[in-house]
Amino acid sequence: MITSKMLIDGRSVDSCSGKVSVIYNPANQEPVAKVSLGTRLDARLALEAARKAFPEWSGTQSHLRGEMIHRGAGLVRRNIDEISKLLTQEQGKPFKDAKREVLAAADVLDYYAEEGKRIFGDWLPSTSKGVRSLIIKQPIGVAALITPWNFPVDLLSWKVGAALAAGCTFVAKPPSLAPLAATAFLQVLNDAGFPAGTVNAVHGPGEDVGAELVENPISRKIAFTGETSTGRWIMEKAAAGIKRVSLELGGQSPFLVCEDADLDKAAAAASQRAFSNMGQICISVNRIYAAKTIAEDFADKLVSRAERLRVGDGMSPEVDLGPMFSQAQREKTEAHVADALEKGADLLCGGRRPKGKEFSKGYFYLPTVLSKVNHSMRVTREETFGPVAPIIKFESLDKAIDMSNDSEYGLAAYVFTSSLSTALTVAERLEAGGVGVNLNNVVEVQAPFGGWKQSGLGRELGHYGLEEYLEVKHIRLGL
Ligand code: NAD
Repeated sequence: MITSKMLIDGRSVDSCSGKVSVIYNPANQEPVAKVSLGTRLDARLALEAARKAFPEWSGTQSHLRGEMIHRGAGLVRRNIDEISKLLTQEQGKPFKDAKREVLAAADVLDYYAEEGKRIFGDWLPSTSKGVRSLIIKQPIGVAALITPWNFPVDLLSWKVGAALAAGCTFVAKPPSLAPLAATAFLQVLNDAGFPAGTVNAVHGPGEDVGAELVENPISRKIAFTGETSTGRWIMEKAAAGIKRVSLELGGQSPFLVCEDADLDKAAAAASQRAFSNMGQICISVNRIYAAKTIAEDFADKLVSRAERLRVGDGMSPEVDLGPMFSQAQREKTEAHVADALEKGADLLCGGRRPKGKEFSKGYFYLPTVLSKVNHSMRVTREETFGPVAPIIKFESLDKAIDMSNDSEYGLAAYVFTSSLSTALTVAERLEAGGVGVNLNNVVEVQAPFGGWKQSGLGRELGHYGLEEYLEVKHIRLGL
């Protein structure tokens, strides 16, 4: 069994405690690897290494930083099979999806390698005679990057790319129960030749190692993706040091299907975004509002797609959906479905674990479609983070928009219609950081990604993501 070590000051190291934890495969509960189990002391050593490396990395010209980031992206692509296999084995997603994730991460690095050259300033006139104002942007300092298990490589790359391009050094803390692919990604990236201490990774529990990264005065910026409750805690702790935070938190995304929508397209899009990665996606489709006149046709199409999806071990090439990440995730999904059924929902398909010996040890669950759903049910109010597509019929578009916005979350929203006017009117009224019109994804490397309301704070990706790692300085010049 391999042992995944931490990366501190350019070296692959064990935890100061000498302790390890074991990572298990959610498809069969077999052990996959041992992981050095970090402590607060390891986190401190990593932060100190990042602080030591900061003057050299932040002082490197942006095009040279870009060259090194490009080199790292190339190394990630060269090692894609090894990293993706670890990702499937620790997280459960099908191998082809894992490869897509790792490739997307390399693409993000390439994007930021170039975007880092576009950190511009300003030259402003003054109200005083003979005075000018020069505005420059500089890297904020050491960044702490804390990430979840659902897309452990891709979501990390959004932070890593922007931090490195801005000139920041960082300490990453991959998720405790799925740290293997993220750590392999960082090790491979580091082989591109960054100054020792620029790229660091520590393992361990969030409440301990993660908390040290947040609380220690060395970190000046905290970039976090994870649950809203964790984000709230991080924001409170970061307040003590008035640190910059960006938070990508939970979601409860509505999906509106209007009367004039292309129903085949809408059903395909809803199926993919509700069920892929077993619904464990922050921008997953969580509530489908379908116009009354087409709701049944739409539901039939969605069910027929859900029933065709093949569930199994993600390493098997013919599988569409792997297991859920953990027993806890599956139990939460089961509890949400049971709650909906008790309160009057109809089960159109799924709603149970698949039968068969090959499923006996993994955390498998069938893609589930519910109808007659209402807003008293947990599936519409909380983040299920499971493969469940609840359908609610609507009579007026105004009512559908109101119901869509009736949530403490505001990450992504989707609308399917063939009218440009309806598309734009609805898109403008939805309270979400990203709206997909006739498509089911709001992620675009050049465009800002982030949430409204309790879905987050700040933006990642695009130039907006880079700004999160930069401080603004005004130099007032007397001529
Ligand atoms: P989580 O909040 O439990 O953990 C995320 C990370 O934070 C992990 O690395 C964890 O170890 C660490 N952590 C936990 N407690 C901490 C603390 N006190 N201090 C510092 N770090 C701490 O989330 P999860 O269960 O790993 O991920 C699922 C959640 O992530 C879902 O709510 C999902 O919606 C959200 N998510 C959001 C986005 C987005 O972009 N908005 C993307 C993906 C996932």
